[in-house]
Amino acid sequence: CGIVGYVGGQQAAPLLVEGLARLEHRGYDSAGVAVVGSRMRVVKRAGRVGQLADALPKRLAGRTGIGHTRWATHGPASDRNAHPHTDAAGTVAVVHNGILDNAAALRRRLEADGVELASDTDTEVIAHLVGRSTAETLEGKVVEALAVVEGTYGLAVVHADFPDRVVVARHGSPLLVGVGEKEMFVASDLAALVRHTTTVAHLDDGELATVTSSGFTTFRADLSRTDTAAHQVDVDP
Ligand code: GLU
Repeated sequence: CGIVGYVGGQQAAPLLVEGLARLEHRGYDSAGVAVVGSRMRVVKRAGRVGQLADALPKRLAGRTGIGHTRWATHGPASDRNAHPHTDAAGTVAVVHNGILDNAAALRRRLEADGVELASDTDTEVIAHLVGRSTAETLEGKVVEALAVVEGTYGLAVVHADFPDRVVVARHGSPLLVGVGEKEMFVASDLAALVRHTTTVAHLDDGELATVTSSGFTTFRADLSRTDTAAHQVDVDP
């Protein structure tokens, strides 16, 4: 339902929660964040963003992170079905808007390989696929995972071994990158960005982006670069 992300010099967790609160008008049943510091930390809850905020440990340190408000399509609203979803090792975290059409087949294939799934969602398979990819870059891992996934997605991925970046992808569900001063934002909706920046790039369908504190680059599923640029958006006061 709603996606936010942050990479920069500030602590990510409070900014993510604040961004999620700005998406509350869209409706949702659960909320969660993943923050990459010295390791990956995930906190997620069924219920309101306020309940997530209350559940956050005081010290959830990390300057890279992603957050989500969920509108359940696969599996009931529950703590374990809330996003972000992680791989078995807890090194990859994924938030996802949309619906995967071949999730059941991918779940069966992973289970046959000995993977224990921790949720009922379609989304979780993406985290395992990214975690199992042997590609060397996070971009390569995400592209490899998405090559076997069918359906719609706007998604954001963080990885403990690549703490300087958020990789995002759009296929049928909107994804925006907001440009700040030595910090960058990600969101599925302008409402989550405008307090921080009005310089915004809209990903095209089929496009991915690497977002770091110093900027962003866009590319396609074959890793060829695209030239999607940020522009100034008009925001009603
Ligand atoms: N299909 C995913 C789920 O059920 C994402 C739903 C959404 O867009 O919030 O968890």
